[in-house]
Amino acid sequence: MFRSRYVPSEPELSLNGSVQAALHERAAVATRERFGRGIFVRAVVEVSNYCRENCAYCGMRRDNRTLARYRANHEQLAGLLIHHRPESVTDVNIQAGEDPVAVRDVVLPLIRTLRRETPLGVSVCLGTLSQELYTELQAAGATIYIMKFEIGDAASYEKLEAPGTLAERLRHIHSLAGSGWKVSSGLIVGLPGQGPANLAASLKLAGTLPLHGCSVSPFIPGEDTPLAGGAAANANWTLNCMAALRLMRPDWVIPAVSALNLADRDGYRRGLRAGANLVTMNLTPGDLRRDYVIYKRDRFIMTEERVLSAIASEGLTPSSRGLSAYYRNGVSHPAMAQAVSVAT
Ligand code: SF4
Repeated sequence: MFRSRYVPSEPELSLNGSVQAALHERAAVATRERFGRGIFVRAVVEVSNYCRENCAYCGMRRDNRTLARYRANHEQLAGLLIHHRPESVTDVNIQAGEDPVAVRDVVLPLIRTLRRETPLGVSVCLGTLSQELYTELQAAGATIYIMKFEIGDAASYEKLEAPGTLAERLRHIHSLAGSGWKVSSGLIVGLPGQGPANLAASLKLAGTLPLHGCSVSPFIPGEDTPLAGGAAANANWTLNCMAALRLMRPDWVIPAVSALNLADRDGYRRGLRAGANLVTMNLTPGDLRRDYVIYKRDRFIMTEERVLSAIASEGLTPSSRGLSAYYRNGVSHPAMAQAVSVAT
């Protein structure tokens, strides 16, 4: 793990104009020095929108009775990923609300099939689960666990009804990392009342955790949530946090999240210019996707065409190395290298 001496300052996080451009350029240079022009390309499938948690910033919170809940069919998803995934995809992220039933009935059989039939690396983003389920997921073949802490101060975390307590969430991150998972986390920018001091504290917290990656997501007020009337995040602050994270941790994998395009018309591509080195194509079947309401139904869906177009427009290329392979000491999967040479 490589940790730089860079520490983000509060004024830096609210920069704009030419000084902001210089900050982003430094982050882009740090990314290219470490990763070259390759961008990791993964797919996401959203397998269940049931959730036992009640986060104030999320449309899938358990108190949202307006949502039609679903669990996907693992055989349908496996068929899609085995036979119809875009050639540039090296990894898949299996994501759901915090739903242990879906973990057993959908996620575990899906991972087993994917590991048997494909060279795909497998990430999961499934919330705070029991040690037994973490172990089963790892035994099935998942290697990356995404567990976001979202906000780095305990009082705001509790007020926003995020899962459990911040201390518990951090304990799970440490425990996952200690048992061999590559852990990626994440934070939200622009929650009500959040200023540069709070953001700097969240970044500082991220820097202390045993992570291999971290996302920065702009707050988008969610339909049918207690924060529905709030203002969306300032895109510049979000992008500045991404750049700061990259300068703090040049070795981390930092995604460009689809919500960047809701915060700013050109947000996704700006993310690729501010330190991001991972993109995600949404392969959730269309009839399910509309009910996976992280913030609102009118999400910005990153299709294969949009993702590849953003990468090409920035003069970048899909990585010939998968994300899981990178985490496993940079070993490249030959099938992936071949797929990428076709795609590019
Ligand atoms: S953010 Fe995750 S844990 Fe919280 S309500 Fe939404 S799906 Fe559930």
